[in-house]
Amino acid sequence: MTDLTSLTLLEQRDGLKNKKFSSEELTSEYLKRIDKKNKDINCFISIDDSAIEKAKKCDEKISNNSGSVLEGIPIAHKDIFCIKDQRTTCGSKMLDKFISPYSSTVYEKLSNAGVITLGKTNMDEFAMGSSNETSFYGSVKNPIDLERVPGGSSGGSAAAVSANLCSFSTGTDTGGSIRQPAAFCGVTGIKPTYGRVSRWGMIAFASSLDQGGVFAKTALDASLALENISGFDPKDSTSINKKVPSLLSEASSNDMDHIVGIPKSIINNIKDVKVKNNFEESIKILKKLGIKTKEIELPNLEYALPVYYVIAPAECSANLSRYDGVRFGYRCEEPKNLDDLYSRSRAEGFGDEVKKRILIGTFCLSAGYYDAYYIKAQKIRNLIKESFLNAFKEVSSIAMPTCANVSFKLNSIQSPVEMYEQDIYTIPANLAGLPAMSVPSGKINNLPLGIQFIGNYLKEGVILNLANKFQEQTDFHKQV
Ligand code: GLN
Repeated sequence: MTDLTSLTLLEQRDGLKNKKFSSEELTSEYLKRIDKKNKDINCFISIDDSAIEKAKKCDEKISNNSGSVLEGIPIAHKDIFCIKDQRTTCGSKMLDKFISPYSSTVYEKLSNAGVITLGKTNMDEFAMGSSNETSFYGSVKNPIDLERVPGGSSGGSAAAVSANLCSFSTGTDTGGSIRQPAAFCGVTGIKPTYGRVSRWGMIAFASSLDQGGVFAKTALDASLALENISGFDPKDSTSINKKVPSLLSEASSNDMDHIVGIPKSIINNIKDVKVKNNFEESIKILKKLGIKTKEIELPNLEYALPVYYVIAPAECSANLSRYDGVRFGYRCEEPKNLDDLYSRSRAEGFGDEVKKRILIGTFCLSAGYYDAYYIKAQKIRNLIKESFLNAFKEVSSIAMPTCANVSFKLNSIQSPVEMYEQDIYTIPANLAGLPAMSVPSGKINNLPLGIQFIGNYLKEGVILNLANKFQEQTDFHKQV
């Protein structure tokens, strides 16, 4: 019998519907595989022990044809999405014992669609990092090479899809945390337009940038998963009140025309020739498909990284002030007084990267520096957004590499700036709030690489369609 865990989401959905196998069989295959592999990969923080019981209920629904669209599909959630009465750690000691009193909208939506949650995935602490090395629960290992990082911060979710430990998984992307790990682990990952997916119950890092999304084996799988977490939510004031189209039909449509923008100066400045060659080869594949391309300018993108590293820490310092040892989260033992309670709970509960960001953010927001750093960063953020809007007058999407390099060895990057540079190509889309995705585009020394497609606002269907066309022509997404 075929290994059910190696099937795509669409194949699993059809197999379940046509009763080729049951959700119980599928779920137990995943659980067995997790049992075998998670020791090495460390991509799960917790496993839901009610999964089999839920699968049996799904099978009943499938057998009387009352199943929902994703009935019986086993998935994993990044441990940043709250689930009522379950532990949600956000990769931090601060929340090690936190049991959420409510569920995130993303969790609710997927549960209503019939999925089974296998467990919660490991991540960089409070989603701050590019390698999963900042997690309180230890680093995740890249399933393709266990000595290397899976990327971050959603590295656990990317690794889980790459190692066939779940059908698809959820993630969040503030500056690249879906796309960079997707590229490093050889899977497809999409971050939609800011506001498309509700942030309710998704633990906040930098609220004007955070956006939920998914990892899957293919663009078609990702489109089905994404359409099931998207949509207006009155509980999130930045949620977009627009109907979500069928992303799966848009992704698989033959009628869509594309003009793909190639940002000339960014591509000319790619340092690693192998990364540059891989990008150029990917563009050739698109051209062979008859897809038009056009060279474009994207001015001011070179400022995206410094702008992000002012805005994201500033917002994080405000968001993380709620962890004070009083209301919830870690509390130090035997505090001497209130000040001691605050400072020791925070000093003991947060890891170094998080503390560094809180310090930078507090500094940038302090009187006297607010105008010089924070306000200036916001102005440049607007210029970056305008650059994209100008480009979208001429093109329907923009292509660039997802990352400047392939996955690196664990503990090999010590310089914070070098680590921050991991997101050089992904951060611009977050600053502008645009949808963007990463698709496997080949390998260098056996390690996967991704091409990134960025779309205009609410045009997830356009980039998914482009990605699907690319995947119809290539088998890079099947090489993990
Ligand atoms: N690597 C980036 C950071 O550390 C992005 C993280 C993310 O997207 N959550 O801030």
